[in-house]
Amino acid sequence: MKFEAIAVENIPLIQKGDDLPSLICERIELQDRDIVIIASTIVAKAEGEIFRLEDITPGEQALEVAARTGKDARFIQAVLARSKEVFVEAPFMLVTTLAGHTCVNAGVDESNIEHGFLLYPPENPDASALKLGEKLERLSGKEISVIITDTNGRAFKIGQTGVAIGIHKIKPIKRWIGEKDLFGKILEITEEAVADELAGAANLLMGEGAGGIPVVIIRGLDYYCEGNTSINETYRPEDMDIIKNGLRCLQKKN
Ligand code: GDP
Ligand code: MN
Ligand code: MN
Repeated sequence: MKFEAIAVENIPLIQKGDDLPSLICERIELQDRDIVIIASTIVAKAEGEIFRLEDITPGEQALEVAARTGKDARFIQAVLARSKEVFVEAPFMLVTTLAGHTCVNAGVDESNIEHGFLLYPPENPDASALKLGEKLERLSGKEISVIITDTNGRAFKIGQTGVAIGIHKIKPIKRWIGEKDLFGKILEITEEAVADELAGAANLLMGEGAGGIPVVIIRGLDYYCEGNTSINETYRPEDMDIIKNGLRCLQKKN
């Protein structure tokens, strides 16, 4: 058994309005059931989610958080603009984004963008993945899955990994429930976070710095699925999320 992870080389620095599917298809011949993994950074650049830090005017809440934490109020404002709930303010902002993804700084990034600029993550990564996927399928004539990734930290462990924040035509979770283990026992709980695993694998080729590899193709693993899928399927329902509920309790106490 094996699968391939292929870096798409020579992608230029992405500007607002760039046609990412064309840039990809000009550089690699896609095959049926390829999984095209795209860093959110270039999706954001292509969508024009680039802001000059000095142009951001902090609102009241951003000024309050900045006073409490000693951080740049304009950066806090950028994070709040893309957040629907704040769980932690310091030493980092842990928030749930408008799209429902829980991460540090709402994915607002200062790296791999010119000095003095901020990159907001795509506002609706599933919608971005759909648009990119439809055009990739049209240009290549193949059945294509898409995953938009970002680099995220993890609770409990040191080190960041690639995670999926938007998907198209791929089931993000593989349910093992009902399958047998080596000894014939029926699995009762296990659900495999396939989209995140693929994002992590792709991130090994992307790296985090000046590598210039924002697109990776995973070939030889078939997780293609027709019809509607959403990264929301991977977000734990609020009433079952003991970590978030614990953080809410802590905030009330403070
Ligand atoms: P994120 O994980 O989505 O925040 O993206 P990163 O900033 O970590 O970048 C992932 C990869 O994409 C790295 O190899 C970067 O060098 C590369 N990258 C970022 N922006 C561009 C770009 O505009 N053009 C190219 N070719 N590579 C880029
Ligand atoms: Mn990022
Ligand atoms: Mn990254």
